[in-house]
Parts: sequence; C-alpha cells; structure tokens
Amino acid sequence: MAKVAPFHSSKTKDVYHDCNTCTEGNNIEPQYKTAGTGNLPRCKNCAERDRLGTC
Ligand SMILES: [Zn+2]
Repeated sequence: MAKVAPFHSSKTKDVYHDCNTCTEGNNIEPQYKTAGTGNLPRCKNCAERDRLGTC
C-alpha cells in the first residue's frame, strides 16, 4: 500500500491514479498505462483511499 507516481490510461483518458491499491488503476492494461496525470481529474477511489489512509 503506497502512493505512487501519477499514472493514467491512454485508452480511457478519464482519470489519473496515484495509489497502487486502486483496483481501477490496477485494471489498466500495461500497454495503456501511461505515466503522469494527463491533465485529468484525480480518481475518486484513489482520493478516498488517500483520505482513509489505505492508499
Ligand atoms: Zn484510482
């Protein structure tokens, strides 16, 4: 469980993730996993995990 460098999906381009326990982030296929925020909003799941200290 840890915060990681932001990454997003170059396929969906919906949100970025910064928590390595995020199930949505972990569902991104390796070929679409792209470093950086992509100027996207933060994933709600990641934000919630960070808030709860479970990131
Ligand atoms: Zn996420």
